[in-house]
Amino acid sequence: MNQNSIKVQTEPRVLFVDMNSFFARCEQQDNYWLRGRPVAVCVYTGQYGFAIALSVEAKRMGVKTGMRLNEAMKLCPELIPLESNPPRYRQYHTKIINILKRYCPEVIPKSIDEAIVNLTNYKMVYPDAVFIAKKIKEDIKREVGDWLTCSIGIAPNAFLAKLGSDMGGFDGLQIITTQNIDDKLASLKLSDLPGIGKNMAYRLERAGITTPLQMRYTAPERLKAVFKSIEGVYWHYKLNFIETGMSVTDYKGMQAMRQISADKRSNPEYIEQLFLTLCTTLEKRMVHHHFYCKNIGFTVKYTDDSRWDDGFSISIPIQDAISLMRMIKKRIMQFEEKTQAAPVFNDKISGLRIMVTDFVNTGKMMYSLFEDVNRGETARKTMYAIQQKFGADKLKRAVEVTDGKVVADVIGFGCVKDLTELDYLMPGEN
Ligand SMILES: [Mg+2]
Repeated sequence: MNQNSIKVQTEPRVLFVDMNSFFARCEQQDNYWLRGRPVAVCVYTGQYGFAIALSVEAKRMGVKTGMRLNEAMKLCPELIPLESNPPRYRQYHTKIINILKRYCPEVIPKSIDEAIVNLTNYKMVYPDAVFIAKKIKEDIKREVGDWLTCSIGIAPNAFLAKLGSDMGGFDGLQIITTQNIDDKLASLKLSDLPGIGKNMAYRLERAGITTPLQMRYTAPERLKAVFKSIEGVYWHYKLNFIETGMSVTDYKGMQAMRQISADKRSNPEYIEQLFLTLCTTLEKRMVHHHFYCKNIGFTVKYTDDSRWDDGFSISIPIQDAISLMRMIKKRIMQFEEKTQAAPVFNDKISGLRIMVTDFVNTGKMMYSLFEDVNRGETARKTMYAIQQKFGADKLKRAVEVTDGKVVADVIGFGCVKDLTELDYLMPGEN
């Protein structure tokens, strides 16, 4: 389903529905005692587990997503850590999507807690989009869960509708129209626009484009030059009522995982090679789909059922196995240095899992981006060093030559799974 078109839409008939603090709210929905209390949803609730989602009460106490529990509990001793429950969130997700589909078939889930409802072609049935947005909020509360709230943005295109939902905040409802868009944008910074990170904001500022309002009135060719990519043109479209965001993202994430048998876990070389093989598996899949990832997750499981989890976002999308591996290793080293804890890779390892999410499909963008990043110096040097050392296309062959045995093992166990069902997706901050 691709409903993008370069036609300018002026009527605000696209709804962006964003569930508030979704994972935490689902937990509070199912356990009455948790309501009104600071809750942190974690993949793992041990000392070094980290919060992947927080209730508004926890956010108010200054707890941030990504904080490790030992830090978070210091900040907020009443914090209640809960192990995440993906089937529960998927169930609620499905119920919510079914409510939305009641209004029109053009519903596009964007993540586990976000969806677009495109009412553009249903003007005869629903002349008033604001009325429908209010109905949706009521339906969700009445039929799915009284504790489940959402912020809805309404605009002529999906991007501006999302911006509206962001601006609406908790239980919000914001409408962005051709009449009020300039006023709405005037209150925002560049980095308030979903998709504009710190690096890009800095690049725009250096080019003399300092506010979203100014960006809206910048010619598409100029934005293309600043972005050094067609993305710049899309940004002009987004801010000028042309649709670019109305397509289904097929892949939300991919993961590669492996159990490690008792006779292998005391062999550091095996573990090292397995690690590289898992990274290479993900690289092959990302290359196949022309994806680069911006979010990486990593789990080490141990024989006593404990685990070490990490997850982080990067500003420069990557695709290659070695960058993936180095970034994870760097995180591990920083963790070991900071905590003086036992090494993450030790002879009690029983499994490894690597996840990549937050894809961008950018063709050849990686290298052009590397030429122009301001804060990616280290990453750039690393990449060039790798290219020089192995050559861009020799990388994979080098891997296959050195660990043919491990590759065979991976195929033998046969457990590499793509996540098409929104597993492990983290909800947005709203
Ligand atoms: Mg949300």
